[in-house]
This record gives sequence, C-alpha cells and structure tokens, in this order.
Amino acid sequence: EDEVLIIGSVLDLRDKPVSKVMTPIQDVFTLSMDAILDKETVDKILFHGYSRIPISAADNKAEFIGMLLVKQLITYDVDDALPVRHFNLSALPTISSDTSCLDILNFFQEGKSMQKHPTTDMSLTIPTLVLYIGHLALISSNPGGVGGALGVLTLEDVIEELIGEE
Ligand code: ATP
Ligand code: ATP
Repeated sequence: EDEVLIIGSVLDLRDKPVSKVMTPIQDVFTLSMDAILDKETVDKILFHGYSRIPISAADNKAEFIGMLLVKQLITYDVDDALPVRHFNLSALPTISSDTSCLDILNFFQEGKSMQKHPTTDMSLTIPTLVLYIGHLALISSNPGGVGGALGVLTLEDVIEELIGEE
C-alpha cells in the first residue's frame, strides 16, 4: 500500500512542472554583484538563513550571473567591506519553467559528476568551466538567454512535493 503511494507520487513528478514548486522570484533573497559585504549586509544574509544566494548583474537585477555560497564567508572579515564580485561565484544552472520535477530530480542527482562532463541536454543549461556546486537552480521562461527569471528551486522543494503528497 505504502509502496504504491510512493511509486505513485514519484510518477506524479513527471507531470508536474518545476514552476509549480519553485520559490517565486519576488520571495528570493538575492544580492547584486556590486553589493558591499559589510556587517549590515552579512547580518542580513545570516538573518535570512539561506545557504545559497543568487547574484544579479550590477546593471540588471533581472540577470543572474551565479550564486554565492554562504559558507564562503566563514573566513571573511566584514571590516574588509568587499563587493560580492570579489568572491568566486558558483554557477547557477538555468532551467526552463516547463521542465518536469522528475527531470530536475535526476539533474540534481547528477550534480557533481557534471563538473567533469558539462553537457547541454534537454532544456538544462550548465555553463562550462564553472564548477556547479550546490543544489539550487534558476527557473527561467528564457533559459540560456538573459532575464526571464521566474524563481528558484532546490532539491528540498522537489522532495517536499514527493513526501508531502499524501
Ligand atoms: P540548506 O538546507 O542546504 O542549508 P537552504 O536552507 O538555504 O539550504 P533549502 O533547504 O535547499 O535551502 O531550501 C529551502 C527552501 O528555501 C526552498 O523552498 C528553496 O526554494 C528556498 N530557497 C533557497 N534559497 C533561497 C533564497 N536565496 N531566497 C529565497 N528562498 C530560497
Ligand atoms: P552542502 O552540500 O549542503 O553544502 P555538504 O557538502 O557538507 O553539504 P552533503 O552534500 O549533505 O554535505 O553530503 C555529502 C557527503 O558528505 C555525505 O556522504 C555526508 O555523509 C558527508 N558529510 C557531511 N558532513 C560531513 C563531515 N563533517 N565530515 C565527513 N563527511 C561529511
């Protein structure tokens, strides 16, 4: 019985687009690459509590150029007041909003192996030569292009969909 329910919800993921489970962009905590990481900003980051922060281009808040891993700040001294662009940003893969939750699950699972073999298959765009670390994806109506960001998605959003079902 339980097995049937579990298999059923896995199969349901095939029919569910990521846009249904993503965190909408207006609720996403982001920073500009020009933001200064002074005490006030770092406190704000800690207050929000997210591990990954999408970083927008200096001149265009709708264009995302990568993500900052908050753990990179462990050794950072806020008195240095450096801009975000001083840090090595991780790649933020862009995924089409009509990608299914099942496909994104497979994508997240492959995550680290893709560092070695970057490919562009389906609607997944992974910038080459940039390490993809962490399980955050940008959901876009215009994958591969500039702008069109609709939200973000993490593995947790998909897992929640999977086990929050029944
Ligand atoms: P971790 O659990 O690995 O520390 P986290 O708590 O930052 O990461 P997740 O647990 O992966 O994030 O996701 C929790 C929820 O927060 C998900 O719904 C996800 O979409 C959302 N989320 C993740 N990062 C952000 C962000 N920068 N701004 C707003 N929402 C976010
Ligand atoms: P995140 O990806 O959220 O930054 P992480 O890389 O620290 O977290 P996970 O990706 O959750 O950890 O786990 C990767 C592997 O590392 C798992 O096999 C886990 O058991 C192992 N792991 C996690 N923390 C430690 C640790 N402190 N020491 C040794 N192995 C760990």
